[in-house]
Amino acid sequence: MNTDKEAFLREFGNDYGYPSAPFNIDQIRASQFKRLDGLVYLDHAGSTLYSESQMEAVLNDLTTSVYGNPHSQSDTSLATCDIVREARQQVLDHCNASPKDYKCIFTSGATAALKLVGEAFPWSSESNFMYTMENHNSVLGIREYALDRGASAFAIDIEEAGHHGGVSRNTSSSIKVSPRPIQRRNQARFPGEAPTGYAHNLFAFPSECNFSGVRFSLDLVKIIKEDAERILTGPPFYKGCWMVLIDAAKGCATKPPDLSKYPADFVVISFYKLFGYPTGLGALIVRSEAAKLLKKTYFSGGTVAASIADIDFVKRRNDIEELFEDGTASFLSIASIRHGFKLLNTITISAISRHTSLLSTYVRKQLLALRHDNGSGVCMLYGGFSSEKLCNEMGPIVTFNLKRPDGSWFGYREVEKLASLSRIQLRTGCFCNPGACAKYLGLSHSDLLSNIEAGHVCWDDNDIIHGKPTGAVRVSFGYMSTFEDAKKFIDFIVSSFVSVPYQSGQVHLPRSIPYSSEGRERRLSTTSFRLKSITIYPIKSCAGFSVEGWPLSNTGLLHDREWILKSLTGEILTQKKGSSVGQGKRWEVSAP
Ligand SMILES: *Cc1c(COP(=O)(O)O)cnc(C)c1O
Repeated sequence: MNTDKEAFLREFGNDYGYPSAPFNIDQIRASQFKRLDGLVYLDHAGSTLYSESQMEAVLNDLTTSVYGNPHSQSDTSLATCDIVREARQQVLDHCNASPKDYKCIFTSGATAALKLVGEAFPWSSESNFMYTMENHNSVLGIREYALDRGASAFAIDIEEAGHHGGVSRNTSSSIKVSPRPIQRRNQARFPGEAPTGYAHNLFAFPSECNFSGVRFSLDLVKIIKEDAERILTGPPFYKGCWMVLIDAAKGCATKPPDLSKYPADFVVISFYKLFGYPTGLGALIVRSEAAKLLKKTYFSGGTVAASIADIDFVKRRNDIEELFEDGTASFLSIASIRHGFKLLNTITISAISRHTSLLSTYVRKQLLALRHDNGSGVCMLYGGFSSEKLCNEMGPIVTFNLKRPDGSWFGYREVEKLASLSRIQLRTGCFCNPGACAKYLGLSHSDLLSNIEAGHVCWDDNDIIHGKPTGAVRVSFGYMSTFEDAKKFIDFIVSSFVSVPYQSGQVHLPRSIPYSSEGRERRLSTTSFRLKSITIYPIKSCAGFSVEGWPLSNTGLLHDREWILKSLTGEILTQKKGSSVGQGKRWEVSAP
């Protein structure tokens, strides 16, 4: 075992690699994730990966069972109904939600679950939609429904108010809320809508921020539901009932909310974030009392008990699940989730949480310790790390930007391209979380608007505008991530972005002769292979040039697959973009 791993195990060993599960992490990787050989997959917040045995179980299940449409009355249909009922129970169990108080509605994803809440929420012109700055676009979109119905919407920053001795951080007196109201669209009440002085309000926050990995305290559920009127002073907060929505699409993979302790009204989850397969399936876990307040407009096959084609008559179904699942549920996908849960439950979520957290803690510590040869720091990490903060805990996400020795930023696209040449898969940009992105990168509204005016959109190459990053680099861990993944990532950052003092004779400095002629003779005598020529292809699919020799590194030819072409404005050349070369753009070579 190498010394880095020994040091890692000394610091974190007790929780690394599932020592008490039937399979340890190395066995899991060797038997279940052979497709990861040679690949470092660090985008589990984007989508985690399914295991081989999970897919074998799915295939076996679907090829040996006959699942009919659950809306028919045949035996095969009843078999499907049983499987779907069990699946709902497993989803509730995952969040420790009692079936007495909660129902599980299947949707096509977390986004569809959020849209359903937005669409059916009992908004009135006296309602408020309040959400934390850190939220996925799919949550922010709910405000369109709120504003359309004349309600107010505002983003808030949650901070801990001055920490006084003796004040428990679990009480509302320890949080301070700074609201940022959104311009109302519809000041006038709807015709016939009299002020009631009582409205339904919605508060939404993520259990884990998919930008920074910050975990929000679930105490917020009770604080808002019970104490909102006292905390929310300032803008005109109407009296009324506050309901709370937790976006657990990211958080549920390693720390699902415990609904027996934190009685949120709505929780959305997504299954590919939990165990990689199936995609296109999510769930809304809804408190039965809250579900009764939702008003559904559309009716459809599946949600209707009776309707008459040519008069305005419809009778909806009574069961909450059936009232909200339009059409035929994705019953084969639903049948597949028990094979994913089986795996998670074998390893246990708490062990997965510990394992993935220590990998991200290790990477955070290593990145923070990196120094250029002039002593300046290399890495700017985003997210709160103070143990005193209300949002103190971190999920298995590390988000950062890198600096050159002179303090200027490396563009995140450059990091991403070089990572992909090293077969490291990570994600860059704002991760669909514009509020967290602006907050952590310190981008003002005018920065954001001028970036948009300059033509910047979420997925483009404009990673630095006016000297400031427009997004960040994110690595995230899943239950099958290993120390080796983390180490390869750190080694890549060190070799590609950290400047080291020049010292002649060091291995990593270019040498012009690959090996001595004695070495060449010796090789020739023991093998029938012979090096005849070396051709360098600086750009894939373009002409190469010959060289007499080329320096070696311990992984092969020095700089092999370690460079990219960058325009003077910082744009990275990819094969897709190759056509713009020679059309008036100038490119420079950027090698670590
Ligand atoms: C992935 C994600 C979503 C969207 O989930 P889908 O199932 O893809 O719709 C929403 N919120 C957060 C925090 C996420 O990580």
